[in-house]
Amino acid sequence: MQCQNVKKLFLLHLSGDLGKKKEEELLGHIRSCAKCREETEFVSKVLGNISAPDPIEPSPYFLSRIKAKIKTAEEHFVLFPMQWRLSPASAGLFAAAALVPLLAGIFLGNAYLSQTANLTSSSSGKAKTVLGLDAFDESPPGSFGYIYNKTMGGA
Ligand SMILES: [Zn+2]
Repeated sequence: MQCQNVKKLFLLHLSGDLGKKKEEELLGHIRSCAKCREETEFVSKVLGNISAPDPIEPSPYFLSRIKAKIKTAEEHFVLFPMQWRLSPASAGLFAAAALVPLLAGIFLGNAYLSQTANLTSSSSGKAKTVLGLDAFDESPPGSFGYIYNKTMGGA
């Protein structure tokens, strides 16, 4: 038997898939060859550690500790919004942050409305051209442009 075949045959021997004759041949070689003996001893040591793991038993307090951790996490989760609400500085900052875009929207909306009001009062046709709304003048019934013209009292 050649040394290069030993590893493959030894794995077959470990899984019990090697024939009796080949097994005797293999074990004879391992006994006589120091290099293969060393290798196969290492392989069986490693595989022995992997294939026979000790069953893991949870400690008797494992479940109660998990439950306690879940309870703590839930308490923190419930407390968080309360702490947030109780802090006046945070509440003020949040209100200010929410008000800025709102006020900006009102301001811009007013500016835009006064501008359009001026345009429409001076000339409806001009306002339509400026705002690009004349594109809806020739619209088929049922389209957005048609509905727009109907509601706005246009053509
Ligand atoms: Zn050998």
